[in-house]
Amino acid sequence: RNVGNIIEAQKSHRLLIVVSAMGKTTNALEEVVQWAMTDKPKAQEGLERIRSACQTVIRELELDQEQYLDPMNACFTNVQEFIDRLDPQNPGYDYTYDQIVVTGELVSTLIVAAYLSQKRKLKLHWQDAREIIRTNSTHREGQVNWNETSWLFQKTVIPAFDKSEILITQGFIASDDHQHSVTLGREGSDYTAAICSYCLDAEYMTIWKDVPGVLTADPRLIGNVSLIDRLSYLEAIEMTYYGAQVIHPKTIKPLQNKNIPLKVKSFIDPE
Ligand code: ASP
Ligand code: MG
Repeated sequence: RNVGNIIEAQKSHRLLIVVSAMGKTTNALEEVVQWAMTDKPKAQEGLERIRSACQTVIRELELDQEQYLDPMNACFTNVQEFIDRLDPQNPGYDYTYDQIVVTGELVSTLIVAAYLSQKRKLKLHWQDAREIIRTNSTHREGQVNWNETSWLFQKTVIPAFDKSEILITQGFIASDDHQHSVTLGREGSDYTAAICSYCLDAEYMTIWKDVPGVLTADPRLIGNVSLIDRLSYLEAIEMTYYGAQVIHPKTIKPLQNKNIPLKVKSFIDPE
């Protein structure tokens, strides 16, 4: 609902919305990966718990089972079948991780898309990020192929904006030349937004957080913190590389290359 409020307040622009997995879903999927290697029934149980948490959200939002929710169930079925077929020795842990863990972002974006279209009556296009962000096959830490990705944006994303002012896609996930899923590293959704901003020559990019912006320290660790109004790209890169968790370290560079401003805002107090 909060996402819906934020988008309604911004919808005078063309928007590309990047959504991550809900809550601790990625951690729960990481456990499913471990079990898939050693105890398949336990992996399927773990998956079932995630599916039922999604069903609870769908019920609470009173969403109809249509357009987006059937694909969501198909995502779960695909990953269940993937685990059933899995030979844990071959082709290895990192590949398996990526094929399973992408489910978190696929289902969260399908739920958000269902909510925005059914409850907010917004016309939007759901885009599978694996069709527009191409990486090499370094699983769990895909390296972006910028030429290919820029070309995919020209071919797919720009035309999609002619039909719909709002596009929604997944953070953190991409694919390689073999059409296999690849992830970009934990907390990689900020980086996805920066890749999209770069390829679209965005006017600006906003990261919506549960803190009021970039602070002088982590408020969970230190009491007396203040808000930093502005940072240069260089200062922001230094802060993130030295451990400030507010922004993923790879996020700044693509923005700096095209001089795209980054805003960090609070979804608790969007104004
Ligand atoms: N869902 C992924 C993670 O938890 C990506 C992200 O949150 O940005 O690492
Ligand atoms: Mg996350």
